[in-house]
Amino acid sequence: METRLIKFTTLTPIFTGGVDQDMERIHETGIIGSLRWWYEALVRGVGGYACDPSNSSCLYSVEDDSGICEACRLFGATGWRRRFRLTLSGAAQAESTAEWRTRRRDAWQFSVPRCDAGGDTSVYLRPGFTGPITLRFAGKGCDLDLLVDLLLLVTRVGSLGARCQVGFGIVTIEEHLAPTGELAKRLKKIAHAHAVPVDPAGRPSAADMFLARVALSEARHKVEGEGGIETMVQLKADLRSVFRPSPDTLRTVRHALLGTVEGERISSKVNVSRPYQVPGDGGNWTMRVWGWVPASMSAEPIAGGGATSLEVFNRIEMCLKTFKSYPGLCNWLDLLANMGTQGLATKDPKLLPAASIDWVRLKDRDGVLAQLVKWLPVPQRETAQ
Ligand SMILES: [Zn+2]
Repeated sequence: METRLIKFTTLTPIFTGGVDQDMERIHETGIIGSLRWWYEALVRGVGGYACDPSNSSCLYSVEDDSGICEACRLFGATGWRRRFRLTLSGAAQAESTAEWRTRRRDAWQFSVPRCDAGGDTSVYLRPGFTGPITLRFAGKGCDLDLLVDLLLLVTRVGSLGARCQVGFGIVTIEEHLAPTGELAKRLKKIAHAHAVPVDPAGRPSAADMFLARVALSEARHKVEGEGGIETMVQLKADLRSVFRPSPDTLRTVRHALLGTVEGERISSKVNVSRPYQVPGDGGNWTMRVWGWVPASMSAEPIAGGGATSLEVFNRIEMCLKTFKSYPGLCNWLDLLANMGTQGLATKDPKLLPAASIDWVRLKDRDGVLAQLVKWLPVPQRETAQ
């Protein structure tokens, strides 16, 4: 049994749920849940099979060491315990709600007017936790290596914990932590074993993901505290508005992609962070936007409306490029590929390689693997035989 200590600190509050959805502490399960979500998406993204944990049929069979999917093999399933233990410590505390004004029963409401004058877009929040957090993983070395890579990936391009759709979970690792190469190694093996990719069947797949970042110019009242939350809600409202043409032929797509509470509740597949400052980047403010667009959206046009997944990607990209609800505040920044071309990505070595393109769409299993190797470069001396 080995252990790994990983210290990180929050850039936007982290949320991990709890009894009645109020957080009295940070829950390990919330961290593990998001690491599992990413690993499943990556496994599916390279053509492998990962079950839907909310409806899993994975059942370990001792006789032939089979019956469980790649994700269950690490994170556990019926008859097969999780391959690691996680304990949390640190001085993170509940974020202050002193500034928050509008409370509706047990949550705070943040609203911005819709651009079509059709009412408001609202988000309801409970406070998350901010500050330093230490994760202590215990398990077999190769499994811990995989977890380190997963955590590095999530801190670099995604969000950790729950409620990433409403701004939670941007974190930065405090000490230098080198990628191990284990994640790429396992995914390559999975890709190799599945000559014919398994259909992800409507479940999140890295091959259907995009990852983007929007740079904000200084306007303190729009990036800090309550103003920052409103900016996040504004970007969400803008995203909805590009999926609200007149006549409204994209209602089904809008609800499937950005969530709805009408009828059967659907949660958003697009995550929008609050504005945050990248450490070591001269005080610049950034927002992270990432998510997935189900490939099934590319089915034939739905009677009376609909959009292919490519059209959906294009609309999201268009929205981010022109996010100008606060004139002069925002402009598009390159994201995650090709480190060194411009902007934020050049200054912080912990950030990702920047790109000559505006954002990253992973597109297919080759895209997933190629991007992963770029994002998690293994130090040379560790790969030398
Ligand atoms: Zn499974």
